[in-house]
Amino acid sequence: MTIETRRQASALDNLDELAPLRAAFDLPEGVIYLDGNSLGALPFATGERVSNVVSAEWGRDLVKSWNSAGWMNLPKTVGARIAALIGADADEVVATDSTSVNLFKVVAAAARMRSGRHKIISEPGNFPTDLYMLEGLTSLLPNLELIILPRGEIAGAIDDNTAAIVLTHVHYVTAEMFDMKAMTKAAHAVGALAIWDLSHSAGAVEVNLGDAKADFAVGCGYKYLNGGPGAPAFVYVAKRHHGVAVQPLSGWHGHKRPFDFIDAYEAASGVDQFLCGTPGIIGMAALDESLKIFDRTSMKALRAKSVALCKLFIELVERDCAGYGLSLVGLRDMDVRGSHVSFRHSHGYEVMKALIHAGVIGDFRAPDHIRFGFTPLYVGFADVWDAVQCLKGILQEETYKDPEFAVRDAVT
Ligand SMILES: *Cc1c(COP(=O)(O)O)cnc(C)c1O
Repeated sequence: MTIETRRQASALDNLDELAPLRAAFDLPEGVIYLDGNSLGALPFATGERVSNVVSAEWGRDLVKSWNSAGWMNLPKTVGARIAALIGADADEVVATDSTSVNLFKVVAAAARMRSGRHKIISEPGNFPTDLYMLEGLTSLLPNLELIILPRGEIAGAIDDNTAAIVLTHVHYVTAEMFDMKAMTKAAHAVGALAIWDLSHSAGAVEVNLGDAKADFAVGCGYKYLNGGPGAPAFVYVAKRHHGVAVQPLSGWHGHKRPFDFIDAYEAASGVDQFLCGTPGIIGMAALDESLKIFDRTSMKALRAKSVALCKLFIELVERDCAGYGLSLVGLRDMDVRGSHVSFRHSHGYEVMKALIHAGVIGDFRAPDHIRFGFTPLYVGFADVWDAVQCLKGILQEETYKDPEFAVRDAVT
């Protein structure tokens, strides 16, 4: 598939069965949004849902809504929707807390299940919060040591002293994707547990936690799931571990009978033990609403479009922006890539600021990566064409050298 003209790119949009889903999103005019892997776009239905939760459920029905509006069950209702996207059973996932906190819970639970073992293995350059949370947890549990190894060395290093491997399925910069099934198998072969972070996978690539026999997983609600800034995250616990895996943040929502109000903690027997305190219902409702959009398609169809978008983007950048100092990050083979693409450029920060100024929104990841996310629900092939032409113009005319683009923002 070589695209020579914008008309050809538009023709691909006309053939795209997923193209109508874009109308579900309130995207601003004149913007090409390639940052849905950082903050998913706003679905039209979210505003109405949130407004109803606030004015009717909270304002009018008040505390009754915990029962009448299903608030109490929302972490499970939302969890079931996410489960359908990641190859899990409905009762294996709950929406709760942040990815960071959920990672702490599952690794702590895994460490307890393998208390005779002393190693937790992860990789350098993993998403920072994952490594930070592992540092925090291992500093609390002196018997546990965090071992950081390059991905090529991990499988060979898992031994009978390893409690768990903690890996991010799709890397947040390079987009490189682990073979989840093979790595999980390598862990299980010596009795270790496999914990997966799906933040850049859920809603973007096909994931089958059940088939991979993954033990635990966590992931974000505000990226490809479009739940909104700071949306609840999710946690998956394989059914065979229910009642066995117990996480230590023993808040009342993880209690077997929270409304008995008894002094002693009794762990709930299902994945709800991984809940902690009272959930933010407004954010939970927003995520519930955005997930409904996935009912209109399949992960298979979304993945096929995502692969086509990423492939086209890489191809056009390498053809049309050749000679301007860009180099692709990660492998070219889409079988081992997620749904975003990063390029390195010595003035990456300035180039991205110039792109955003021109209406093409991606992001910058230190030290020199410009990153573009392709959310197949609302990005089209003509968008890819336009984004590349915009990038080419900025590099050719060197508009990124304007001093205003060198000013660093707090959030990149
Ligand atoms: C985005 C992301 C997170 C975010 O964690 P929060 O606690 O929600 O801020 C964690 N891990 C990975 C791999 C991510 O990509």
